[in-house]
Amino acid sequence: MLMPETKKIAVIGAGISGMAAAIQLADSGTEVSLFEKNTSFGGRGQAFQKEGFFFDMGPSWYWMPDVFEDFFNEFGRKTSDYFDLVRLDPSYQILYKNDRLVVPSNIEETYKLFESIEPGSAVFLKKFLHQAKLKYETGMKEFVRKPSLSWFEYFDLRLLKAAFQIELFKSFEKSIFNHIKDYRLRQLVCFPVLFLGAKPADTPALYSLMNYADLILGSWYPMGGMHKLFEALYHLALEKGVNFHFNSSVEKINIVNGKVTGLQIKNQSHTFDAILSAADYHHTETVLIDPPYRQYSNAYWESRKLSPSALIFYLGISKKLDSLLHHNLFFKSDFNQHAESIYDYPAWPEDPLFYVCVPSKTDASVAPAGMENVFILIPLAAGLQDSKKEQDRLFTFAIDHLEKHTGQSILEHIVVNEQMSISDFYSAYHSFKGNAYGLSNTLMQTAVFKPRIRSKKVKGLYFAGQLSHPGPGLPPCLISGQISAIQLLKDMNL
Ligand SMILES: Cc1cc2nc3c(=O)[nH]c(=O)nc-3n(C[C@H](O)[C@H](O)[C@H](O)COP(=O)(O)OP(=O)(O)OC[C@H]3O[C@@H](n4cnc5c(N)ncnc54)[C@H](O)[C@@H]3O)c2cc1C
Repeated sequence: MLMPETKKIAVIGAGISGMAAAIQLADSGTEVSLFEKNTSFGGRGQAFQKEGFFFDMGPSWYWMPDVFEDFFNEFGRKTSDYFDLVRLDPSYQILYKNDRLVVPSNIEETYKLFESIEPGSAVFLKKFLHQAKLKYETGMKEFVRKPSLSWFEYFDLRLLKAAFQIELFKSFEKSIFNHIKDYRLRQLVCFPVLFLGAKPADTPALYSLMNYADLILGSWYPMGGMHKLFEALYHLALEKGVNFHFNSSVEKINIVNGKVTGLQIKNQSHTFDAILSAADYHHTETVLIDPPYRQYSNAYWESRKLSPSALIFYLGISKKLDSLLHHNLFFKSDFNQHAESIYDYPAWPEDPLFYVCVPSKTDASVAPAGMENVFILIPLAAGLQDSKKEQDRLFTFAIDHLEKHTGQSILEHIVVNEQMSISDFYSAYHSFKGNAYGLSNTLMQTAVFKPRIRSKKVKGLYFAGQLSHPGPGLPPCLISGQISAIQLLKDMNL
């Protein structure tokens, strides 16, 4: 009896979505080859070491731990097989012009904090988080797991009802500003949607599920660094038999008569039955595919609202710093002005908000003894031209703020100083306009409105990653890789 032939699938990109897809595909018995242009895995979650410091280059917030746990459980593993996860307490601090809010990990303490600032606000927050929990459960367990290829997937009465319950059509800002007046509390509640790359006024209220993730599920950290998560995915993929090919930039996806036949690397063709590209969607469509097979026009891409790019400083400091926690949000400047410079009138911000992560506050392994590992991130409009002058100005701006805040000299204690900016996102990841976090999650870029996970024009071609459904962030990208792989397997009857 003839055995059915093992299908050969290629995955492009060893970021979180590519590795999740590869694991899912290999687990179903296909032969998976994963091609990555860089020297190692992780994509935006790459890391580097210098002078005894270990720097995560991208993500630093480990939110929605249940999503990662569920993923590993599906393959008979636990995250604890690979790393130790600790919950941060306090979760983070927000520094305003004249004071600060330290956000506790215990929700009862958070209610007390709200009430002490604005009487009555805790009652609102309780109700708001109850709603947010429903949204999280419906949104993260059901909506995001649909392939979102057609609205018909949602034409189930229960889900339609849920769409109204989760306030898909109401603005996030409205759902809060009517009830909370204090600007500090407003910013605390609005900050998680900034992760989603849009102003709160343009974000559907659905995304208050992020507040549930923040205030109830908490901020976690894998000891050893965020990179431990990527290492875990890499090892699970190896266990499943995925063949990794690093330093392998895919140059072209070969298509014959509307069907994928393979891909081209270093001018050599390789044959595959299907391809799942988890590289930046825009790059795949505009560089790897011939024009007749592209689904989206240039005008389409130009009209997309992108979440920000970022200017990042990775600093090794040769002493301990006071008054900083693991996560610190410097919200000392005008929130709206900075948001406008990102979304409305792209420009280098005069007086930006910024974020400082000091993982050495939790984890001694990421800096030499007595030193501090400091990551500074300033959100910028995607597509801006890099400017050494502006980068230097913002470096001085951030260091001045840090010195004032800590009351310590920092500049002369910098022993490692590496930077990443807009054009580096393009050269490192082929990122569209140098975006850091993909497309903004506005209503018109949610679900079916996102670039599709299955090509409309090419049989055997699938997509995953932060420019696709369900969107940016580690948990959504993990899910994106998985649902795209599941769709591929279903279409191929595997
Ligand atoms: C600075 C920063 C901070 C962030 N902070 C957080 C956070 O705290 N928490 C959170 O949850 N999320 C965060 N995010 C978002 C999160 O990191 C991303 O949404 C996610 O990692 C994107 O994964 P991906 O697989 O879609 O893409 P990527 O990680 O970009 O992976 C795509 C891979 O494809 C490769 N590739 C591209 N072109 C080719 C080609 N032609 N051939 C072969 N390979 C190719 C790239 O090199 C890359 O490795 C952050 C992102 C950034 C940039």
